[in-house]
Amino acid sequence: MAFDLKNIVRPNIWALKPYSCARDEFKGEASVYLDANENPYNAPFNRYPDPLQWAVKEKLAQVKGVAKENILLGNGSDEPIDLVYRAFCEPGVDNVVAIDPTYGMYKVCADVNNVEYRSVLLDDDFCFSAESLLKAADAKTKVMWLCSPNNPTGNSLCRGEIEKVLRGFDGVVIVDEAYMDFSDLPSMALSLDKFPNLIVLQTFSKAWGCAAIRLGMAFASTEIIAVLNKIKYPYNVNILTQQQALKMLDNAQQVKEWVSVLKAERSSLNSELLALPFVKKVYPSDANFLLAKVEDANAVYDYLVGKGIIVRNRNTVSLCAGCLRITVGTHEENVTLINELKSFA
Ligand SMILES: *Cc1c(COP(=O)(O)O)cnc(C)c1O
Repeated sequence: MAFDLKNIVRPNIWALKPYSCARDEFKGEASVYLDANENPYNAPFNRYPDPLQWAVKEKLAQVKGVAKENILLGNGSDEPIDLVYRAFCEPGVDNVVAIDPTYGMYKVCADVNNVEYRSVLLDDDFCFSAESLLKAADAKTKVMWLCSPNNPTGNSLCRGEIEKVLRGFDGVVIVDEAYMDFSDLPSMALSLDKFPNLIVLQTFSKAWGCAAIRLGMAFASTEIIAVLNKIKYPYNVNILTQQQALKMLDNAQQVKEWVSVLKAERSSLNSELLALPFVKKVYPSDANFLLAKVEDANAVYDYLVGKGIIVRNRNTVSLCAGCLRITVGTHEENVTLINELKSFA
């Protein structure tokens, strides 16, 4: 058993000749651009943006310690999640395996693409065993979805088990690291050399404070990146997003400061929640949210809505009965939440 990309990519995608745009054909600087039927007025918005976003990737490569050739940028993480299905999974034939509970988009995208989605329940500590995931797979399993730190549970998955999956599975393994900035562990993106079947996802939506610009990142081998580049929309990241990303990347120190404040707030919010009589448990979190088990999740949720405070009710999610997912806010927001909860009876 060995990973061979050609065996995993859908045959039509492997054979696909991608759309060649004007920006692909001529690269470099010129003084007169008459190749793309653009309007010559209204700079800079009149020009099609760089389809491969090299300026953003160059800065990102430095910040992340990953070569720019190993990066794909997308319209949020939503785009690489969908691209993975379209690249690797034959509708109605192939399947994927994922931990449960986890982020809902993996299942939604599976359903949109008519790909069977197999869930493997985590244990009571929200940990998983590589063996149980591998057992759920068969010859038609192309992709495994892992999320670490996991949403909505907040914990990091065991690195040793992730590596066992990467070594034991000859399809593609996605590790979604949307919350990695809030964890003290190193990113799996630093281990791309060791794992040819690894795709790591990160996003500008959480620690980077840029959910509105829709920018997601995938880190993988140059071979996998080439397949995903072939099927993405040519100009999938618009220039406003690229400009804002460049600005943020020049200010990475600010992001570090936000993260350190939010981690401190997470810790105090954790103790404040535990001190409430109706809070049964607060799960350990490496993310910017806490999962709290309470006596009556629906009642607490409705009460907070009445006070103008919205948390996420995860009561009906696997293993999360009685749980609310609470995002760490500013100090003032967290104090407001706790004060209202103190009057809940
Ligand atoms: C929030 C979140 C994302 C971010 O998705 P975007 O499309 O980049 O905004 C990705 N994965 C997980 C697990 C998340 O919780």
